[in-house]
Amino acid sequence: MIYEVVIGVEVHAQLRTKSKLFCGCGTTFGLTANSQTCPLCLGLPGTLPVLNQAAVEMAVRAGLALNCTIAVNNLFARKNYFYPDLPKGYQISQYEAPICEHGWIEIAASEGKKRVRIRRAHLEEDAGKSVHVAGTNGSRVDLNRAGTPLLEIVTEPDLRSADEVVAYLKGLRETLIYRDVCDGDMEKGNFRCEPNLSLRPLGQKEFGTKVELKNINSFKFVKDAVEYEIKRQTKVLNEGGKVQQETRLWNIDRGETAVMRSKEEAHDYRYFPDPDLVPLQIPKELIDQVRSSLGESPVDRKSRLEQEFGFSEYSVGVITSRKDIFEYFEKCVIEAEKLGLSKMEAGKELANCITIDFRGLARKMNSRAGFEQSNTPLPLGHPDSSEYGEVWLGTLIPEKNLAELIAKKIKGEISGPIYKTVLEEMFETRRTADEIIETKGLKQVSDEGTIEKIIDEVLEKSPNQVAQFREGKQQVLGFLVGQVMKASGGKANPGKVNELLKKKLGEAVKI
Ligand SMILES: [Zn+2]
Repeated sequence: MIYEVVIGVEVHAQLRTKSKLFCGCGTTFGLTANSQTCPLCLGLPGTLPVLNQAAVEMAVRAGLALNCTIAVNNLFARKNYFYPDLPKGYQISQYEAPICEHGWIEIAASEGKKRVRIRRAHLEEDAGKSVHVAGTNGSRVDLNRAGTPLLEIVTEPDLRSADEVVAYLKGLRETLIYRDVCDGDMEKGNFRCEPNLSLRPLGQKEFGTKVELKNINSFKFVKDAVEYEIKRQTKVLNEGGKVQQETRLWNIDRGETAVMRSKEEAHDYRYFPDPDLVPLQIPKELIDQVRSSLGESPVDRKSRLEQEFGFSEYSVGVITSRKDIFEYFEKCVIEAEKLGLSKMEAGKELANCITIDFRGLARKMNSRAGFEQSNTPLPLGHPDSSEYGEVWLGTLIPEKNLAELIAKKIKGEISGPIYKTVLEEMFETRRTADEIIETKGLKQVSDEGTIEKIIDEVLEKSPNQVAQFREGKQQVLGFLVGQVMKASGGKANPGKVNELLKKKLGEAVKI
């Protein structure tokens, strides 16, 4: 039997507000347990929740960025369940009237671009955390996270493979980061994924029985878990069994999913409107204001970069992966244009610098700082980093300075090796290219006599290549140019080297 996989995804994204959803406690990660709590988020009697306006605005921004309709009339509901990290005995969420509905996000699927529909996105508060301390009796509860604002984003069952799930999650995370709604930090649990999947015979309309995978915090684990679950369910069905409706956990060490609990239905939670919170009316003006401040979407930015500069998918991906990187790139281009470069040539050179040279430098800095090169997050927040650091390399070099360096390279005033030396020095010292070239004695040598002398030495040491050139092998010219540049410490004017070398070789051929 051939089965079709049907997958929907729930994501809990923590909103980047300074304070919690219904009280003034802070949301900083990693502080001493229970230091960010107050009577309200501890669930003490007699307290009353007050809604955080910033959280509402962020939810509106996320919703608009995800092409959702924003509900003007919102209700908060109590979702009742008992858990040690939920002192109230209920979680405040939205049930019947979510703040965002009917959106979509576009992903790259194997058959081309595909729209994944977003059914709803609603505001809710997070629970605390049970801490199981090894070697002690029992567990402890940390309520610092209790009451932090989450946006739960739920898709329609539109996904059909593990790869599509990962593409959706990456696209969603990118959008939320881009809109300053969520920092996307998966290791801190600020972007948690819960795929649910079922199989049905190909061509059948009714859905099969759904299994939900709980709280996965890495794209790799999502892919592994979904692929495992597809195999497991296929086996169950092929052997004539029935898939049970349940929630399963992904066990990283064993590489398999295991039952966590049989799935509860919505009515098990006895949702009802929270009597402590008045219905929330979002003014239309606020929605319009957020909409007009949204600006260009990441998707539009990508296609603009492709059209304006003819960039590769990789370059576009890196440059648009973060707003600060994109803005840095754009400012550098503007500065380069002021120096008389065309947008296209400056853009191409800057893209190479940011996507390739910065990356090399980040690696070098990491290894110098004692970090392993493999699988260690780059602490300086390079786009390759799995953990988005606070500082990005670009903040170390002002846009104007980088544009000046790029201009010198394009105009042939410095060679490739000198460019690299100066760039590295710029990170270390924050000085301008001119200052570095001056103090390090890297000024270009254009004097013909000096260059000719170096050429003569190189030709003398390379009789084989000269002979090959005589036999008509033009390719050795590149090798010889390289040798001359090397011998000059990268300082010789490459244009002059080329010109003089051709002349000399021409003479050699005549001999
Ligand atoms: Zn509090």
